[in-house]
Amino acid sequence: MLDNLTQRLGRVVKTLRGQARLTEDNIADMLREVRMALLEADVALPVVKDFIARVKEKALGQDVIGSLTPGQALVGVVHRELTELMGGQATGLNLATQPPAIILMSGLQGAGKTTTTAKLGKWLKERQKKKVLAVSCDVYRPAAIEQLKAVSAQAGIEFFPSHAGEKPAAIAAAALDYAKKHYFDVLFVDTAGRLAIDSAMMAEIKELHALLNPVESLFVVDAMLGQDAVNTARAFNEALPLTGVVLTKLDGDARGGAALSVRHVTGKPLKFAGVGEKLNGIEEFHPERMASRILGMGDILGLVEEAQRGVDQDKAQEFVKKMKSGKGFDLNDFKDQIGQMRKMGGMSSLLDKMPAQFAQMAQQAGGAVEDKAVGRIEGIINSMTPGERSKPELIKASRKRRIAAGAGVQVQEVNRLLNQFEQTQKVMKQFSKGGMAKMMRGMKG
Ligand code: GDP
Repeated sequence: MLDNLTQRLGRVVKTLRGQARLTEDNIADMLREVRMALLEADVALPVVKDFIARVKEKALGQDVIGSLTPGQALVGVVHRELTELMGGQATGLNLATQPPAIILMSGLQGAGKTTTTAKLGKWLKERQKKKVLAVSCDVYRPAAIEQLKAVSAQAGIEFFPSHAGEKPAAIAAAALDYAKKHYFDVLFVDTAGRLAIDSAMMAEIKELHALLNPVESLFVVDAMLGQDAVNTARAFNEALPLTGVVLTKLDGDARGGAALSVRHVTGKPLKFAGVGEKLNGIEEFHPERMASRILGMGDILGLVEEAQRGVDQDKAQEFVKKMKSGKGFDLNDFKDQIGQMRKMGGMSSLLDKMPAQFAQMAQQAGGAVEDKAVGRIEGIINSMTPGERSKPELIKASRKRRIAAGAGVQVQEVNRLLNQFEQTQKVMKQFSKGGMAKMMRGMKG
């Protein structure tokens, strides 16, 4: 996600870090690069201008020029301003109300409202143990009601049936009544979208809003629409008191313009990002972490959270500890990681969150992981003794032959696996040698 922007800004960051001295000239060069990168990412022009002006003002200040490591200090400024641009603090959902907390979902057709409703429902159910009900007021497309029914079942949340002949307001009122009587914590109201902004749709959603007085009114928009996404968000925001925005399909958005402009243009926080078609493809939007990712510094907290969500809590924690200390990472862990990685949505979702240079190394190291070769790798590791797994350097020619025979593979495959493991170990060592810590310090600069 946001690959283009990350690549361009990552390059600027790299050059800057190396600068021992900053002058007005090289700051101007750097700002030109950043400006180009943002415009190419399809960030709205007023947003770019404002952003550049802020960075410039701070860059020319004493804190940067007078600093011992001006390049790093300037990277820190860009990081902070990017974070601010995207809203500063993560806001999360507000459910602080007399239950049921009503969450009204609006957006154009195809934006991802129905999918997002199920994703958020699943999220609230699994992480906050909420009792969740979902209802569709899309009386124009019976298929939409069926779709919500299907995804609610997948998400494990309850679905309140509705029908094409009914009035949206009547459906909403009935669902609310049911939610109250059955002590639901949260009620999601999915609404009808259109292909474009249309006055009948706006009138209807306004009526629903007035009737329900929702604690959250979320606008769902497709990130891939770039500036159009932001313009639609602005139009909805003028018609409805939105409380937040959900950007969907960020997984397919290489440019990133909407993620960067939506807050600035609407004044409303970006609360969640959709990052895949599956129901666990959603992330809370953390401006600071996103800024780190965009600058190629990775999102270590996000990674750790994903690791912790992996099936085996204890193993995940142990792994994080090993990753931090760089000690004791062996083939047993390697095998566990392959298994967990598969459960955590595969390499690509993890690589997205790693700092650029680690992601590259990990890609080399784990290249085979996405292959069908995974089963074979597990087979090879299984034919090793526990001693060999914890001390792979013991594995010399005769042991290699035995392991290969045990797993039914060629000796070359055993060699390849040992090489990959060595590469992975190097990545772990890099993490622990303070590569990350140094970077983080640099950002605070
Ligand atoms: P609605 O008309 O607004 O209710 O949109 P849907 O929920 O039906 O979604 C439209 C399409 O976008 C479906 O094919 C979804 O699978 C897809 N979609 C929704 N969110 C995401 C996302 O975050 N990533 C990807 N890749 N696809 C998504």
